[in-house]
Amino acid sequence: MRAVVFDRRGVLAIADRPEPSPAPNEVLIKPAAVGMCGTDIHVFDGEFEGTVYPLVPGHEATGEVVEVGAGVTALRPGDHVAVNPSTTCGECEFCRNGQQNICLKWNGLGVVASDGACQELFTAPLANCYKLRPDTDLYQAALIEPLACAIRGYDLLARRLGQHYLIYGSGTMGLIMAQLAPRAGAASVTIVDLNPERLKTAAELGFANAHTSADQAERAQWDVVIDCTGSIAAIEDGLARVKPGGYFQNFGVAPADQTAAYSPFRVYRGEITVTGSMAVHNSFGRAVEMYEAGAINPGPMISHSFTLDEYARALEMFRSGAGRKLQIRPNDTESRVFVA
Ligand SMILES: [Zn+2]
Ligand SMILES: [Zn+2]
Repeated sequence: MRAVVFDRRGVLAIADRPEPSPAPNEVLIKPAAVGMCGTDIHVFDGEFEGTVYPLVPGHEATGEVVEVGAGVTALRPGDHVAVNPSTTCGECEFCRNGQQNICLKWNGLGVVASDGACQELFTAPLANCYKLRPDTDLYQAALIEPLACAIRGYDLLARRLGQHYLIYGSGTMGLIMAQLAPRAGAASVTIVDLNPERLKTAAELGFANAHTSADQAERAQWDVVIDCTGSIAAIEDGLARVKPGGYFQNFGVAPADQTAAYSPFRVYRGEITVTGSMAVHNSFGRAVEMYEAGAINPGPMISHSFTLDEYARALEMFRSGAGRKLQIRPNDTESRVFVA
């Protein structure tokens, strides 16, 4: 069986490995699609805290159940599933307080210490597998994992009807956050991205207020500002545009060693709330519900898919900023272009 392996920091290999078999309460899955995101780049570059090499990447996966381990009755071979990559220790202070996503030993499949889905077969705990409807497009449904992260982000915002939203980043996360905003009661949604190419996707998804700078927008302040870039410049710009009483969310992953400047006086005087949002927290099942209810439009969001062999090419394309959502399709026979 073939697998993409991050052998050590910055070193990629396509390896032949024995086929895994499911342990008790595990499921063996033939992956259909695996989304690539900035986290994979951080893991490859050795910038993600705690990664243990060698590691098979891939944490945004869907697939078909091939075999179930002892004790598994909720799924059977042939079922389609989306996989929540987060596993937690269950023992630390945060797990015991119901805050599993900030577990001290948080482990994502394909991110920290357990192999992910960029291989012909992979195993996941039953508890992490969510059954999809048979008529749900299994390839596009790999967007459910980022959707689950977005729902966690919304759980941390005090949502009120009639608010104006400003979102930095017209990549997968920004576009998912933007598509959820009307469902959270937004009166308007503005999207900012420095790259005009990326704003095309926003336009295709129906967002008319999309700009390369918030200065070009129809308003100067917003009730909710969400950074989906992790860029310090975007974060500093966005914090200054939060309306008094409003919310700012650090959703994008900023480099761990960088800091941003803001006005503590404005935060004090305007009672501005600044929040973070980490991965998935009790939100994966809801992501499946919302995805299957049509909450996001996946078609314009996914531009390319790559075979396992072409993982390096996908990584290179991701770094270049070209394309939209890039996927690995570990059991596909060719790489494909959906949006040129
Ligand atoms: Zn991801
Ligand atoms: Zn824990």
